This record gives sequence, structure tokens and C-alpha cells, in this order.
Amino acid sequence: AAGPCPAGFVLGLDVGSTVIRCHVYDHATLIRGSSAQKIESLYPQAGWVEIDPDVLWLQFVTVIKESVKAAGIEMNQVVGLGISTQRGTFITWNKKTGNHFHNFISWQDLRAVELVKSWNNSLRLKLLQNFCRVLHFFTRNKRFLTVSLFSFTNQHVSLRLAWILQNLVEVQNAVEEDNCCFGTVDTWLLHKLTKGSEFATDFSNASATGLFDPFKMHWSRILTSLLSIPLSILPPVKDTSHNFGSVDEEIFGVPIPIVALVADQQSAMFGECCFHTGDVKLTMGTGTFLDINTGNNLQHSIAGFYPLIGWKIGQEVVCLAESNAGDTGTIINWAQELDLFTDAAETEKMAKSLEDSEGVCFVPSFSGLQAPLNDPCACASFMGLKPSTNKYHLVRAILESIAFRNKQLYELMQKEIHIPVTKVRVLG
Ligand code: ADP
Repeated sequence: AAGPCPAGFVLGLDVGSTVIRCHVYDHATLIRGSSAQKIESLYPQAGWVEIDPDVLWLQFVTVIKESVKAAGIEMNQVVGLGISTQRGTFITWNKKTGNHFHNFISWQDLRAVELVKSWNNSLRLKLLQNFCRVLHFFTRNKRFLTVSLFSFTNQHVSLRLAWILQNLVEVQNAVEEDNCCFGTVDTWLLHKLTKGSEFATDFSNASATGLFDPFKMHWSRILTSLLSIPLSILPPVKDTSHNFGSVDEEIFGVPIPIVALVADQQSAMFGECCFHTGDVKLTMGTGTFLDINTGNNLQHSIAGFYPLIGWKIGQEVVCLAESNAGDTGTIINWAQELDLFTDAAETEKMAKSLEDSEGVCFVPSFSGLQAPLNDPCACASFMGLKPSTNKYHLVRAILESIAFRNKQLYELMQKEIHIPVTKVRVLG
């Protein structure tokens, strides 16, 4: 049970892709109580991945109540709430009623894959890239170089949002009537928590949408106008540690201040104390994310490191370069559903019981292969199967595929990001 705590308690929420968790921290940052629930993804069509916002909201409220109960404290002892969220997952809703127009479209969703392909091959994008190349040649302005290297990806919000705007009449009508709001998970939770009185996101979340200009620190006029995404539906972007308002009293009985919104990978970077230029973290969750602190410099790369805002706290802006592998925990979950094992923790023992995978290889690409291959259509597959192959070989090959992807990303970082690595934190 919690002892006396004059400074009160803080709630840390993590809305991941697989799990939603809440920890209650005391003033010494010790965890006093926790609660977690599994997030259910919906697969309405092949390649589509959605999350039901009503279910997520119920889970969000439940994990907060359960963790506060587990900590043995009262809700009125909570002095602040910080929310870290999966990135690139978004929703749109009716400004007047607050009702959503569709489920969350997950960052894993592939419905815009054809749009991504056609935009990346389009004359308009090529002209823009060449124009920026010329501008960079004359001005040496890094912003133009970054745009000249830009290409769309599925994980960015940009083309999935364009898809929604092109295909959902209800959303089109709402945009015309200036009655549409767009939000990533953080913005929508803020909207729900404040019963619609606050509409905002933070720099770390905005910079992961593919619609943000990190050089100018505002929504990209070029990309939004290229894709006909109205700026009016996008939330104002605030500091990561901004005062985002208070939770409406009706929800938990007391108004809890919302003191931080942050994107999950940037949050992990901060949590691992990667505060200095050259600090690196590698996080394995649903996917793998490799991030390097690039100080106050935005770094571009050709084969797949993208610049992000780590956080903005007061005057301090920290930049990151990031790359990722889309499928890590997803393949563990899939293998578990195939009954290759009953618990993820068994995989280590299974893999270690063999010398090697006897030539069996697995390609972990349920959502394509990201950097350095950048092939959204790459097929997941086992190769090198033999009559003697058993499930232990398969499990070993699955774990090895995660290690190989990590190595590929790390080598790419060393090749393309010219900052000496000071430390590497591995977590997940
Ligand atoms: P996210 O934050 O993306 O929701 P988590 O960091 O919670 O993801 O990681 C969850 C994933 O990790 C699940 O897919 C789960 O199967 C996998 N996982 C959990 N424990 C292990 C383990 N011991 N070995 C390998 N994978 C694991």
C-alpha cells in the first residue's frame, strides 16, 4: 500500500499497438500500481487494420481506475496524467457532436498501398523532388534536401488520410461544412478526456504523421496542399509537456491535469535517458524502432531514416532520426496463434535447444519490408523448409529474423547517419 506522498502521484499511460497500460508513479518515480489490457485489432478486409474507438476508450478509463485501485490511493491524489501513444494511427470525428466517422485506421493498415505506390511514382512528386534538389543546390538549405528525398510510406498518416477523404462521403461533407476534426490517438483521447473542450497534439506525435514540417515546426503546407488535406481539420501543435487542460470531472470524479502528450518511440527514448546527441535506443514491441538522438539537427537519409521531433520542452527541441521494421511482436503473436508455443517467453528456450535453424529462414514482412529494402509488397515467408524441419526450427528462424532486421537497421544507421554512437539501449 502507498505511504504518505505529499507530492501526489502521476499516471503514465501507454497506448501501444498490442497493449494499453497504466502505471501509477510516486514522487520517487517508483511504480505503486499498474494495470494493462490487450488491444484488439479489427481486420475488416485483407490488409485493413482498425481499432474500435469505443472499446479503446473503455479500456483507457478501466486501466486508469484499476491501476489507481492497485496503488491503494484515491483519484484525488493524482496530480498529473501523461499519455504516450502509438503513432500514425488516426481517426476523424464530427466537431459538433464529437462522434467519430470511422474506426481508428491503424499504422499497420495497408488500404492506401496503391496510393502510396502511385504517388511515389507520380510526376507531381518527381517534379517537387527535382525542384527541391535545385533549390538545395543553390541555397544549401537542408529542408530542401529532405523534401527532395521524401517519399510516402504506408505508416505515415498522409495517404491513409487522403484515402479516407477520397472515399468517405460523410467525412467529405463534414470538411465542406468545417465540421471535421482529425486526430492521432493522443488528440482523440484529449478530446474524449476533456469532453471536446481541447483540440491539440504535441510535436513528437505531429512529426510522425508525415504531414509535418519539422524544419518549420508546423504542418507542412507543401504536403497538405499536394494531397488536398485541409489544414482546418488538423489540431494545433503544442509542446510535449504543455498544459493540455484537465480531465472532465465527470469521468473520474476529480479534474486531473493532463501534463504531457508524447509519441511512444520518442517517449521510450526519453524514458531510456537518451538525452544526448549520439544516444541510441532500439525498441522491440509490435514492430521494431531504432532511434538516434541527432541533437538540434534534423537528419535525412536515402534508404530509410526519417527525421522526427523527439520532444519540445520549453525552448529545448530534440531531434531524432528513426527507422523501423514493421513486424516484430506481430510475428510472435502469429506463431503463438499457430500453436508453435503457448507463451512468448517459451521462444527463447525453444530456439536455444538447437544449434541453428538448419537453413530455415523467415522473412518477417506481414506489413511489407521497411528500410533498407522499402518494399510494401514484400511477402512474409519461410524458406529452406525440409522434411526434418520441426516447430523448433521455425521458432528459431522467427527469432533470428528479428535479430537480422535489427542488424540491418543498425548498419543502415551507421552508413547514413554520420553521428558517432555514444550508447545503445535495447528494450521492449
Ligand atoms: P506495443 O507497445 O507495440 O503494444 P509491447 O512492447 O507491449 O508492444 O510488445 C508486445 C509484443 O511483444 C507482443 O506482440 C508479444 O507477443 C511480444 N512479446 C512479449 N513477450 C515476449 C517474449 N518474452 N519474447 C518475444 N516476444 C514477446
